[in-house]
Amino acid sequence: MIWRDCTIADVVRSDDGNVASLLDEEGHTYAGDFFIDCSGFASLITRKALGVEYRSYSDALFNDRAVTLVTDGEVEASSQTDATALANGWAWRIPQQGRVGNGYVYSSRFCSPEQAETELLEHLAEKRPDGEMRHIPFHTGRVESVWNGNTLALGLSQGFLEPLEATALALVQLTLARFVRHYEAGGFTSQYASVVNREVADAFDGVKQYLQSHFLLSNRDDSDYWRACRSNSAAISPELKRVMECWFGRGDLSETLQETGLGRHYKLNSWLYILSGMGVFPKADQLSPPSEEQAGKVPLDDIQTFFEKLTLNHMPQSEALKLLAQGRNLHDERELAAMGDPLQDLLGLGFAVSSAG
Ligand SMILES: Cc1cc2nc3c(=O)[nH]c(=O)nc-3n(C[C@H](O)[C@H](O)[C@H](O)COP(=O)(O)OP(=O)(O)OC[C@H]3O[C@@H](n4cnc5c(N)ncnc54)[C@H](O)[C@@H]3O)c2cc1C
Repeated sequence: MIWRDCTIADVVRSDDGNVASLLDEEGHTYAGDFFIDCSGFASLITRKALGVEYRSYSDALFNDRAVTLVTDGEVEASSQTDATALANGWAWRIPQQGRVGNGYVYSSRFCSPEQAETELLEHLAEKRPDGEMRHIPFHTGRVESVWNGNTLALGLSQGFLEPLEATALALVQLTLARFVRHYEAGGFTSQYASVVNREVADAFDGVKQYLQSHFLLSNRDDSDYWRACRSNSAAISPELKRVMECWFGRGDLSETLQETGLGRHYKLNSWLYILSGMGVFPKADQLSPPSEEQAGKVPLDDIQTFFEKLTLNHMPQSEALKLLAQGRNLHDERELAAMGDPLQDLLGLGFAVSSAG
């Protein structure tokens, strides 16, 4: 195994269309049987050399830029990432050890880089900081096929979706797992390339449609950006349209997700979170409230107690990270016996019954 830091200047093809070797700027040649394209947005092998078609998602997802800023760390860093809708997109806030990563993902059609900086600073209640504000342009979409001959595109070279659901690493993992399984099954040939290409494309399209629903279902009406997102019905696929119709028509969402295939990537609960979480429901006169008996079955006090007890099992994040950095096993550090098996407790509260019903 060799590792060399260099810039690839050319991709050399063989007569059968496969990639024979890579050539760096200093004239070194790297021959190989199989090549993995991890060249980021450059997509050096897949898009540039092989000319694989790119399917843009920009008709459905308007965001194409991000501006980022690092701010001071918190004393006790929260373990959650916050995503907040702003006038022309949304902002992330990710507490890390010793610093907080912030960014604003927005659409250049509606907002200039200067305006995005101002909005992000206002949102963070920061004065113009000493730290650099970095601007990152991006395209959202995917290549038509990730596995082409003796090459595989992985990561940003295969496509990109804005990080609203933080899906990039999961899609890398999915692509690799599918590739490894089918490369072996095909005796290390590209026999099953089309299967992998279809599955990976389907996963990207599935995530895209789930992301799209965040924008379509927004109830914000305070900027051109949000009004355009909400009224962008032309970009709705027939499958997503069916899911929306099912929700507003009080149909069987579980069945519709299965039939449309949209339940493969995000399960029923995820769709329930986004649909009800955005506050969109069928008209009030079409809703049938639960009977008193049904409502009484939801043990809200028990659920609250359960979560309070659950937190007792965990140490503050800063403490846990320090121990992990020392290579210590967190479970050895704290008594877990206080409340038995958390999963059993959860099931005992009726979650399993209510989600099945
Ligand atoms: C704004 C933004 C926010 C994100 N947030 C998240 C998130 O919350 N969660 C998540 O999972 N992911 C997130 N991602 C995605 C994450 O950044 C990517 O998944 C990850 O960086 C992918 O790595 P990569 O190797 O594909 O590409 P890159 O990290 O871009 O690496 C590509 C490498 O190829 C090199 N290269 C390019 N051309 C050549 C050449 N000719 N010769 C030699 N080397 C070359 C580049 O120098 C670079 O080092 C985000 C991405 C963006 C843009």
